[in-house]
Amino acid sequence: MRAAVLRGPRNFDLQTVGEPVPAAGEVLVRVGAAGICGTDYRIWTGERAVRYPLVPGHEFIGQVAAVGPAVQRVTAGERVAIEPNWGCGQCDLCEAKRGNLCLMRTAVGIDRDGGFAQFALLPERACWPAPADVSDERLLFAEPLAVVVRAVARSGAGPGESAAVLGAGTLGLLALQILRARGCRVLVLGRTERRLALARRLGAEATVATGTGGDPVAAARELSGRDGVDLVVETAGTAAAIELALGKVGFVRPGGRVVLTGLPHDPATIEFFWLVRREIDVRGSMIYQEEFGDAVALLARGMIEVAPLLTHRFPLASIEAALETHRRPEAIKVAVFPWEP
Ligand SMILES: [Zn+2]
Ligand SMILES: [Zn+2]
Repeated sequence: MRAAVLRGPRNFDLQTVGEPVPAAGEVLVRVGAAGICGTDYRIWTGERAVRYPLVPGHEFIGQVAAVGPAVQRVTAGERVAIEPNWGCGQCDLCEAKRGNLCLMRTAVGIDRDGGFAQFALLPERACWPAPADVSDERLLFAEPLAVVVRAVARSGAGPGESAAVLGAGTLGLLALQILRARGCRVLVLGRTERRLALARRLGAEATVATGTGGDPVAAARELSGRDGVDLVVETAGTAAAIELALGKVGFVRPGGRVVLTGLPHDPATIEFFWLVRREIDVRGSMIYQEEFGDAVALLARGMIEVAPLLTHRFPLASIEAALETHRRPEAIKVAVFPWEP
């Protein structure tokens, strides 16, 4: 099989290697599509340390090619979405059903070989069966959707509430739709106008381009009809977005909630006075815990619109171009299709 093997920072080797053979409890998946996110980009550049050689790729889906002995969850030929993170199952956090926080968590495409290859070997627990009629392009969004299903659940969003989503990338545009499904009215903030028309088409009642002079506080007040929105879901992970989510008086109302799910890699400067004075609840939301099956079901039911989010497709041989494209402003979700020539 063909695999994109990372040998060091910015050093991909496109190799033909033997197909792995599933041992007991393991599943060999023929990868149909693998999405790219900021984590993959940071692994590629070396900003995120990994052990080499590594086949990255954690957002992927495919078809079961073979199963090892004793596998019960899936059978050969079945379509699957891959849940690429699991806890050790033994520590206090895992026992408390918080395996997403496990310090010994295994992450596919980071700690072990992932989906930038024609086949991937996984434990059966990582494989979520999906109906045959859900396209690869659609199922591909299971992983990011699971992230926002958790984030929105942690916000406690309910019918009639006003919500702001920070970031109009894959996570933001999915969070918008989950919030809408929960009956919220949604304001979406992006740096530029570029994706905001799409946000409005996907149900945003209001949008603001923060990088071109838009006023997020005025928009939050107008949407909510009070001193800020009821809740904020932050998906961008940039310092500017964190500072807006937590530091702008009147963006979130007194007693409101802020959920942070974009991973902030840079420090942010926050005036905490207003968070205390207004009793703002701030919650982190780390990937997913029990949301993966829900995400697959939402996609299977056609609840969430994902087609406009898949903006770029590449064959495996163009993995570096795919990673570069991920950073381009016009890219939302970039995906690699390992069997396409
Ligand atoms: Zn990711
Ligand atoms: Zn654990």
